[in-house]
Amino acid sequence: MTDLQAILDDIHAELSPRIGEGKVADYIPELAKIDPNQFGMAIATVNGDLYSVGDAAIPFSIQSISKVFMLTLALGKVGESLWTRVGREPSGTAFNSIVQLEREEGIPRNPFINAGAIAISDVVLAGHAPREAIGELLRFVRYVADDETITIDDKVARSETQTGYRNLALANFMRAYGNLDHPVEHVLGVYFHQCALSMSCQQLAKAGLYLAARGSNPITGHSVVSPKRARRINALMLTCGHYDGSGDFAYHVGLPGKSGVGGGIMAVAPGIGSIAVWSPGLNKVGNSQLGAVALEMLAARTGWSVFGD
Ligand code: GLU
Repeated sequence: MTDLQAILDDIHAELSPRIGEGKVADYIPELAKIDPNQFGMAIATVNGDLYSVGDAAIPFSIQSISKVFMLTLALGKVGESLWTRVGREPSGTAFNSIVQLEREEGIPRNPFINAGAIAISDVVLAGHAPREAIGELLRFVRYVADDETITIDDKVARSETQTGYRNLALANFMRAYGNLDHPVEHVLGVYFHQCALSMSCQQLAKAGLYLAARGSNPITGHSVVSPKRARRINALMLTCGHYDGSGDFAYHVGLPGKSGVGGGIMAVAPGIGSIAVWSPGLNKVGNSQLGAVALEMLAARTGWSVFGD
């Protein structure tokens, strides 16, 4: 049996001199204040073990990782008809790109770029006031993570609302093309709050367990989605989870994963466990620089890549 704690300790020790690398997201003022000298990592296994190292208990802004949970909720609401609103192909463009959206007439390439996630927020909003939709997401995340202490950081949500000009542009574009049913401010209210979910690596690793265990949390027995749906969400994470760095992440790490500009990455080793890493400094395409390196080291040492060991 692989000694996962020893592997995590090793990765941490090896990366220690590099902690602080990369550039903290500064287009959201509240995120610009984050100390880049932090690094945490956690693994939750399908057997119920939790391993962690470094700053794994410190909550951070999960940002776009929330798109995985919102996609799960939206699929639960409208099923496969979701795919008339959003595609399933890698975008090859930046997370907030507007060019492709115009060329493709308001249908975002996938649920994990901003435009796609905003369309998904619109789906989850149906039949609700924005506050209720946000409450539904929070309840869902607490349920999958089996942790009632998870919260949303209102300061981050407010900060992003005040400066989210590009997201406003994307939403208005989609509304103009008829791909948003609700007022832009309501949809973005949901979107900005989902991005402001605050979770630690330990909480995030536990939250991803349903994707590692055929749709159910193996510890609590909570059933979340069918095995087929879990497999498909993993496929989307693998192909689209790191924006235009998705190919590179698959090449180096070989696990389905979703990044966020808060510097977190949640990755899934199907049948084995769920992994979360956090290091706020980002690389050029907006993914955690050391986070990706740490996951590459973990995959190399465990042989967990979905493409073989
Ligand atoms: N809240 C961020 C935005 O919409 C999410 C981007 C990300 O995490 O990649 O700009």
